[in-house]
This record gives sequence, C-alpha cells and structure tokens, in this order.
Amino acid sequence: MASPQFLSSPAQTGSRPRLVVIGNGMAPGRALERLFEAAPDAYEVTIFNAEPRVNYDRIMLSPLLSGEKSFDEIVIHGDGWYVKHGVTLYKGAKIAAIDRAARTVTSDGGIVAGYDKLIIATGSVPIVIPVPGHDLPGVLTYRDLDDVQGMILAAQSRGRAVVIGGGLLGLEAAAGLNSRGMDVSVVHLMPTLMERQLDPAAGGLLKGALEARGIRVFTGANTKAIVGEARVSGVELAGGRVLPADLVVMAVGIRPNAALAQAAGLTVQRGIVVDDSMRTSDPGIFALGECAECAGQVYGLVAPLYEMANVVAAHLIGPTPARFQPSAVATKLKVTGINLFSAGDFSVGPGRQDAVLTDPASGVYRRVVLEDNRVAGCVFYGDTANSSWFFDLIRSRADISAIRETLIFGPSYGALDDAPAAVAASALRAA
Ligand SMILES: Cc1cc2nc3c(=O)[nH]c(=O)nc-3n(C[C@H](O)[C@H](O)[C@H](O)COP(=O)(O)OP(=O)(O)OC[C@H]3O[C@@H](n4cnc5c(N)ncnc54)[C@H](O)[C@@H]3O)c2cc1C
Repeated sequence: MASPQFLSSPAQTGSRPRLVVIGNGMAPGRALERLFEAAPDAYEVTIFNAEPRVNYDRIMLSPLLSGEKSFDEIVIHGDGWYVKHGVTLYKGAKIAAIDRAARTVTSDGGIVAGYDKLIIATGSVPIVIPVPGHDLPGVLTYRDLDDVQGMILAAQSRGRAVVIGGGLLGLEAAAGLNSRGMDVSVVHLMPTLMERQLDPAAGGLLKGALEARGIRVFTGANTKAIVGEARVSGVELAGGRVLPADLVVMAVGIRPNAALAQAAGLTVQRGIVVDDSMRTSDPGIFALGECAECAGQVYGLVAPLYEMANVVAAHLIGPTPARFQPSAVATKLKVTGINLFSAGDFSVGPGRQDAVLTDPASGVYRRVVLEDNRVAGCVFYGDTANSSWFFDLIRSRADISAIRETLIFGPSYGALDDAPAAVAASALRAA
C-alpha cells in the first residue's frame, strides 16, 4: 500500500461546498481548469490520485518512451498549480471506498474526506490476457509513467522485446523500444494492424514501414503463453513458435475502471453509467473520462473526454442546459516519420462510396468515405496534409456535392496541376 502524501493542507470544513475528485488524469484536470476559469472560489477542492504524481499528458508517454520528450515537458499541472488554486492533492492515495450515505471517501491509507459533490475519474485499466506466464517479471502493460520507466530500464540491455497488440498503443511502444535499440517484434491477433482505425490497405502500408525499421510484425498471430522461469524469456504463439523476449509489453486494450463505483452501488455496465449531464445513478456524483459510459458508449481518446469535462464543469458552476454530445474522433499514430490519420466512420456499407487515391511509389494512400454527399470518414497514410480540413467536413456534416470530383485532393485543389504527381489511381467507386 502506497503511503499517502499531501501537498497543501488537508481540506478543512469551511463555508464552501466540498468537491472531491477521485483520479487526477486529463479529463478531471480539464474540468477543474474550466471550473476555476468561471468560478475560482466556488468549491473547496480535494483530489485523490492513485499515481504518486501530478496531472500529466498521458498521450505524450510515447514521445517520452522514444526519448523525444522529458517528463517535465509533459506535465499539465505542476505542483504550483494546485497551490495557486487552493487544491488539496493527495498523491499516491488510492480511494478504497465511497460511502454514499455518509458522503465520504476513504483512501487505502486511511484518509477520510467528506464531499458535497463527487467526481469519479478513475480512467481505464489495461487488459491483461490471462495466458500462462502473464504475471512473470518482465511483462509490462502500457498505461502510465511507471510502465514507461520500466520499458526504458529494460531497453538499456538492448535486448529483445515482444509487443503483444498491433493497435495504436502497441505500435507506439514498439517504435519507442526500437528507437531505444531493442530488437522488437509485434504480435497481432487480427490480419491487419490498427484494424479499428485503418482499412487493410493503409494497415498494409503501415506494416511495411515498420518492417523497414527492423520491427518484425506477426499478424493473425495468437499468443498461447508467455514463457520463462524467474522472468520472461519468450512468447509462445499458437502453432508452437516461440519468439525470444527479455521484455514483453501487453497492449491489447483497456476497460473502464469502474470497480470502485460498482462497490459503492452505482449503476455500472461496461463503464459507470451516466446521463448526458455526466451524472451517475446518484445525482450528487459525476463520472468523467474513460471510466464513464454515456448512451452505451465508452471512450478511449481524449477529445470526447474533454467534451465531458466541459459539461461537468458547467453543471458544477450552476444550472445549465449543457449536455454531452460526442462528435467524431480522429486518430494519429505518434511515431516520428510515419504519417497516419483516420477519422469518423469509414466502414463499408450500403449507400456508401469511397473516393480513393493511391500512390504506391511514394507510399501515399488516401481514402474518403462518402454517404449522402457528406464525408463520413477518412483514412490517410503517407500524406496527411489537409487532414484537419477533412475532419472539419466530417464534424460539420457539410454537403460536399459541389466539390465531390476534386474532394480527395484537398481544399486547395483548383486545377489538375495541383494534384500529386504520381497518382496511380484515383477513383470514385461504389462500396
Ligand atoms: C500510451 C498512450 C498513448 C495515448 N495516445 C493517445 C492519443 O494519441 N490520442 C488520444 O486521444 N488519446 C490517447 N491516449 C488515451 C488518453 O491518454 C486517455 O483517453 C486519457 O488520458 C484518459 O483520461 P482519464 O482522465 O479518463 O483517465 P486517466 O488518465 O487514466 O486517469 C485516471 C487516474 O485515476 C487514478 N485512479 C484510478 N483509480 C483510482 C482510485 N481508486 N483512487 C484514486 N485514483 C485513482 C489513476 O491512477 C490515474 O492516474 C493514449 C493513452 C496512452 C496510455
């Protein structure tokens, strides 16, 4: 059990309502920023964070792993921010129980704090495939600073790493370990990489680019066991092949961290169920971020979590019609030298058409999915210029019929000589 520390004085019972926040990730950090901008003195705020540190940009863990950023550069709110706003932050203090009748939370170190309003923002937990050997030393997940520090330490040996999972996080971990001199293999269950964000054509280009860096990629590969005695020594695939490994990183997905809320009797399905004002089944308790489930959806990218944060802040400030209305999300792979962008819904379906541009010589692939003369989604590999323009078209649901013929070339396309030189195929084809 981590011994709790506190930064500023413990919360005193004063005249202001007490706001307690469980979790100190990006989502509640944004909600508190909005609250302090509009109503700096409205609440006496106390935060409990299981991680022994301030709020940092989790998205930037990959540049930290690859050595492109330092931890100081990815801190969102340094210690001074909490002091400035009179926030009591307990670091390394995990909340073990919520007593809804008494309106208190209790940390695993025995700190008890009363609340008038409570925000649960416990994020997600990484999924660990329960194969034999999953708990051997040398097997890590990829979620927080401790995981990155473990990987950086392991990479000092310049040994062999196997990353299980060929999604966004797994590939960023693989590229980071590769850039730190490890011999890296990626094992992915599905036939193509990042299949949730990319179509097979773009996934194939991505695989080629990773292999060109010396990263081995095994698609359609099922992990049967993690092998080793005192620590990990390899990953055994279904079929019997063993990939030697000094480090294994499991990056196979996340699930909302909702156990605390469930134990407190709140309604939980995949995540903590909230209405569109982010209230849980107890109206005095909000849930926010990856732990929350709204209209049957849970979220794993930060943009919709920030929209949730704005809604929670508005409701904390006073009566408001603010409601959470998720918009389309976009993904980029944060691997230097690999340009990849996808946004919206690019699944194949009746009534949908693809505008596709490929340039195999330069490794460019652009696919825009149209439905009812609107852009439903897009996937760009190699050339991600104008991606924000396309993303705006998706979010605004603008009618593109007037520019349909030239849409694929982007906003500045006015004449053929603006088009990329070696276009091998450009076609509008029925899905
Ligand atoms: C390596 C990596 C790369 C990513 N890249 C991208 C990207 O490119 N784009 C993007 O949009 N998103 C990305 N994400 C996802 C994004 O970081 C998350 O969606 C976002 O950080 C989630 O914020 P959150 O506040 O909901 O939860 P978290 O940031 O997970 O914070 C939850 C916090 O609550 C604490 N906690 C949990 N239980 C308790 C408890 N009982 N008591 C007290 N504290 C508790 C945890 O320790 C944790 O600090 C990435 C994530 C990772 C890990």
